[in-house]
Amino acid sequence: MAFRHDYMDRGLTPNLWKVAANGVKALSLMPVYPSKTFPNHTSIITGMYPENHGIIANTIYDPYFDETFKISDPVQVRNPRWYKGEAFWETAQRNGITAASFFWPGSEVTLDYRRPKYFKDYDHNYPYKPRVDGLIEWLSLPQKDRPRFLTIYFDATDSYGHRYGPNSDSVNHAISVLDGMAGYLMDKLKEINLLDSTNLIFVSDHGMTEVSSDKYVNLEEILGDEKVDYWNWSTFCLIQPEKGRVEAVYNKLKANEEHYKVYRKSEVPDFYRFSNNPFFSELIVITDLGWEAGDSKAQKGFISWKAKGNHGYEKDALDMHGYFVAMGPSFRKNYKTGTLRNIDIYPLLCEIFDIPVRNGIDGNGERIRFILKKY
Ligand SMILES: [Zn+2]
Repeated sequence: MAFRHDYMDRGLTPNLWKVAANGVKALSLMPVYPSKTFPNHTSIITGMYPENHGIIANTIYDPYFDETFKISDPVQVRNPRWYKGEAFWETAQRNGITAASFFWPGSEVTLDYRRPKYFKDYDHNYPYKPRVDGLIEWLSLPQKDRPRFLTIYFDATDSYGHRYGPNSDSVNHAISVLDGMAGYLMDKLKEINLLDSTNLIFVSDHGMTEVSSDKYVNLEEILGDEKVDYWNWSTFCLIQPEKGRVEAVYNKLKANEEHYKVYRKSEVPDFYRFSNNPFFSELIVITDLGWEAGDSKAQKGFISWKAKGNHGYEKDALDMHGYFVAMGPSFRKNYKTGTLRNIDIYPLLCEIFDIPVRNGIDGNGERIRFILKKY
């Protein structure tokens, strides 16, 4: 998604502003670290930090099973073992509320009771309007089969943001397209007489910032002959040195620490809520906003791809913040609020559906429920 908090200020989103006028608009939506797609979608739907829901990155290595989770690998994406949290669709269905998802990370796992009753295997090239039509079809089912909680996902601002940067005409075009989808959804809901009785929440997983090939740290040059396993070369790198070489690798990275920070697993600052996880590597490099790090091969790829935008940086960097607008019978009207946290959306959904919040989540309904009419 990667719809940055300020994309609504570009005069391109009349439909989203209609939602804001009839409902609630937040200044921004704070992501979790790392501000990447899968970790954040999973936090939104579980109310948990990545270290607890398990999706700590878009690529994760499990040394016990010797398996790697990759968002491009449908077998692993559908493997429920990676997902340690309870998605809201599971909570809802435990409470007798049928759920449906026209795409959401984790919605296509291979265990019936852990996914929405109605779901679609992710297809990046699936056209947008038919995604909305799919939701409407589910909502037109006889009442006993009809889902009451539904999700939908669009990628346009992410794909174009990476390629051309957040300030490009292409991203502006993508913003218009997505706003058009919001309008189309509302028109269709009106046609089936559900617009007034439906709560609509529009959110994004994270924002986007400009990057350039001259802001790149080549870690291979720093590490020389050291043999390391690594995952997620870009805005952060999980680094697993050979046995007995952890301190040597750490010292090399520390001695060259510029435009990034290196931490031992035990020293990662608590506010990341990222490292207390069995699949976390011995070392991590976290780059400064706008910087990337990797080996020579990754750097070459980055240069030849000429990417102009990225995300994955600190959750407090405003460029990483997404957006939040919502309207419907449960929400206050024409209400502007400050920054909300995406881990609080799960307890917000529990409030809306009037079902108990699952124990052990990180989100807190008290921080967000003031946007609802009943508070
Ligand atoms: Zn992205």
